[in-house]
Amino acid sequence: MRIGIVGYQGDVSEHADILASMKKQYKRDVEVVLIRSREALMSVAGLIIPGGESTTIFRLLKEYNLFDAVAERVKAGMPIMGTCAGLILISRDNPAERVRSLNLIDARIRRNAYGRQGESFIENIEIDGIGRFSAVFIRAPVIESVGKSVTVMAKHNGLPVMIRDNNVLGLTFHPELTGDARIHDYFIDMIGRRGYISTPEREWYVADLL
Ligand code: GLN
Repeated sequence: MRIGIVGYQGDVSEHADILASMKKQYKRDVEVVLIRSREALMSVAGLIIPGGESTTIFRLLKEYNLFDAVAERVKAGMPIMGTCAGLILISRDNPAERVRSLNLIDARIRRNAYGRQGESFIENIEIDGIGRFSAVFIRAPVIESVGKSVTVMAKHNGLPVMIRDNNVLGLTFHPELTGDARIHDYFIDMIGRRGYISTPEREWYVADLL
């Protein structure tokens, strides 16, 4: 299956590496596509918005006319995983923040809630259905509240850190940095065979870029 990673800024190659490693480790038939255009977006069965700087990723999604296109595809059922800055972008739009969000999951987010870069940390958390996971929090947002439709899959210090609503998965931490592919494996299960469209665009294949 083809999985897209919004490929402007942030932990793009880290997500690509861990997905590529799953071919061997998990016998997953995964092709990674960097998404920087509408055409590329239409060719994938699932999408990851990586961590990075949400204000920058937001600006580039707008500039390349992907902002509304991503929302449309996810509302039509395409699975999406947003990690850290990516979670900020998929959450409920919060007028108190500089970033406009896509309103794909009913969660209210506060950016940079733990403080500056130096306040970043690694902590073991317990994830429903996955188990113990070493979670890397880098200038992470906090999920302040979630709506009824949202399932909290993991908490840290009483606050949700991993949430899901149907085809939308959000994490305040970085699952791509520890070499542990279980969260990506879970996301691939969410994709299943749904929405599989095959329109090869070779120039976007990460395999060609690495
Ligand atoms: N603080 C960043 C933001 O607000 C998110 C940090 C990250 O993705 N590691 O966009």
